[in-house]
Amino acid sequence: MASFDLSNRVALVTGGNGGIGLGMATGLAKAGASVVIAGRNKDKAKTALQELKVAGAPKSDFVTLDVLSGEECHKVVDEVAARFGRLDILINNAGTNIRRQPQEFTPKEWHTVIDTNLTSAFVCSQAAYPHMLKAGGGKIINIGSMMSIFGASFTTAYAASKGGVVQMTRAMATAWAKDNIQVNAVLPGWIDTELTQGARKEVAGLHEKVLARTPAGRWGTPVDMAGIAVFLASGASDFVTGTAIPVDGGYSVQG
Ligand code: NDP
Repeated sequence: MASFDLSNRVALVTGGNGGIGLGMATGLAKAGASVVIAGRNKDKAKTALQELKVAGAPKSDFVTLDVLSGEECHKVVDEVAARFGRLDILINNAGTNIRRQPQEFTPKEWHTVIDTNLTSAFVCSQAAYPHMLKAGGGKIINIGSMMSIFGASFTTAYAASKGGVVQMTRAMATAWAKDNIQVNAVLPGWIDTELTQGARKEVAGLHEKVLARTPAGRWGTPVDMAGIAVFLASGASDFVTGTAIPVDGGYSVQG
């Protein structure tokens, strides 16, 4: 279907070297986009680039990026746009969690989570804006969470960051609609990745609780995130902006 075609489009996915980011990057590659993945772990990136090649990305590359550095975010965005001649799609996916009761967080831990999950998405979007303007439009996809909607005792910083992602998405969507830039958030349910493998080790009974509460009766996989990425990155979503779309097997609508 033509409106889902991403041929000649260039995408940058932060944290695209694994997990949900790679699931989304693979979807974009299958739809014809050139995809640059950015992160810190080069070993994961090697395997990820192989997957993108198999998926049919016309071009793919890995750039080293620590999203905690605003300077690096700007440099990487500018480099990708210069090397590929344009930047059409930005997926702000890099994320982390530190699980503590609220009274236990140090200021440094709080800032690590907020800056990785929220500030970096803001800074990368700011950096992408002039390139999208030049391209005549663009697509920004921010990654929220069920913690954009709900709370849990061990997620104060994470929930604050992911709630912030949704509000930032709405504000940016409002500001940049006139520039033909659509900004949307995806709220994944419980997806089996390194991040949640860590959570399952630290939070007793989490695996069973997720299974019991998810109407689909299973954990999601990174592949489950590919379709929404293609939709929100393509012309099919040109009149969709400022939304926060759950991809959660029904978790958020379970009464
Ligand atoms: P992973 O741990 O597999 O992926 C996280 C990615 O973020 C990694 O590729 C990592 O790259 C990157 N990253 C983390 N910190 C930095 C940093 N400082 N600089 C650059 N890259 C960084 O977890 P997920 O795939 O699960 O998480 C992806 C996103 O999805 C996150 O925003 C997460 O909050 C969100 N999410 C996940 C859910 C789930 O159930 N899995 C549910 C809801 C939201 P590297 O290894 O190179 O550092």
